[in-house]
Amino acid sequence: MHPRQKKLQDRIKASSIRDPETGCWLWNRQVSHSGYGKITLADETGTFTESAHRISYVAFVGRLRRDGVVRQTCGNRLCVNPDHLVSMDPPPGEPEKT
Ligand SMILES: [Zn+2]
Repeated sequence: MHPRQKKLQDRIKASSIRDPETGCWLWNRQVSHSGYGKITLADETGTFTESAHRISYVAFVGRLRRDGVVRQTCGNRLCVNPDHLVSMDPPPGEPEKT
């Protein structure tokens, strides 16, 4: 596993609280006005803010299209448990750009 991915996983775990009843990992940091967790990341170009559940999907599940949509199967917008996240990628048709 890429060390950066492991770091991201650790950060997501450290930034969320397990709900023993639902199994949800509830985001415990910034929250957007629409009710989704937010995470600030840095890369070569600077810092940017992303939805916490999307980053969790990338960190734990795998690659995601830049415009890919991830939603929570549990319906909790603050949840970042990768087991509760599904990618809503549109059906293939357009070649993926890298
Ligand atoms: Zn959940």
